Amino acid sequence: MSHMMKLAATVSVLTLAQAAFSAASAENLKVVASFSIIADFAKNVGGNRVDITTLVGPNGDAHVYEPKPADAAAVGEADIVLVNGLQFEGFLQRLVEASGTKAPIVELTKGGEVLPNAEEEHHHDHDEAAEGEHEHEHEHAAGEDHDHEGESHEHADAHGHHHHGEFDPHAWQSVHNAEVYVKNIADAFCAADAAGCDTYKANAEAYGEQLETLETEIEATIAEIPEDKRTIITSHDAFGYFQHEYGLKFLAPEGISTESEASAADVAALITQVKEDKAAAIFVENITNPRLIEQIANETGLKVGGTLYSDALSDESGPAATYIDMMRHNLTTIKGAVLGS
Ligand SMILES: [Zn+2]
Repeated sequence: MSHMMKLAATVSVLTLAQAAFSAASAENLKVVASFSIIADFAKNVGGNRVDITTLVGPNGDAHVYEPKPADAAAVGEADIVLVNGLQFEGFLQRLVEASGTKAPIVELTKGGEVLPNAEEEHHHDHDEAAEGEHEHEHEHAAGEDHDHEGESHEHADAHGHHHHGEFDPHAWQSVHNAEVYVKNIADAFCAADAAGCDTYKANAEAYGEQLETLETEIEATIAEIPEDKRTIITSHDAFGYFQHEYGLKFLAPEGISTESEASAADVAALITQVKEDKAAAIFVENITNPRLIEQIANETGLKVGGTLYSDALSDESGPAATYIDMMRHNLTTIKGAVLGS
């Protein structure tokens, strides 16, 4: 009996402590951002009215991320979950289900300009150019994703299966799309916290102006790069939107996901293409192993021109701690390698 009472007393002390803790932060929206770039946008829009938890942190690779128990807890307690969508976060669905969250899951690419997954064209446009518009659509048939339902991700990964879909998820590499992400974040914050809506809208507008300045800078810098020096090699197809918006050509041995390794045939085809297209520079990415890029650099005689930040920011002390710094860093790194060589 006394044991029971002691237990009850302990429980009520814990409950009080928790109540006090949540009262302290009750003012702020609890926001979960799926990866570092979205967290930066959310910080700019939310300011000090939001507490942000980032799932895939600096230099992390969301394509292959394995959630931790703390992630399920954060999603479970969130008021809003901000995600990229377009199957970028392969871990998301299971995490959301496991967390039991009631929070809205907001896909920030909604309403943006979305590009198709050009992976198969990319990888085969040389050796199969003679066949014309051969799109390999059968490999991305609608039924494919269902093959893996009920299978664990680990199992699917071990067999190198593709999970990516019909669209290229790296939409943030277009600054115009980044503005759409920011608008969607402001709308989501307004819906969850009407009292802060004016602040969110003002923050989004001020940040949007910085993004427009950034876009002008990117266009001006690309204009300084001669047309015949605009082919760039990276490790995976993360820069399709940058290519589409700003007119550089990106080639990569790996497709739009880092989940499956490049085949020897993909690498050989890329090396042939690099020699024929006279690629101007080659870069490693912050989220991937540099070995394959070093091999291609050796075989083509290109010198690795630095690190591009593709799918994640750097940590605070790095050169790409914010989205704007990331885009500037990538731009100056490309320009330096191309014009310096
Ligand atoms: Zn990627």
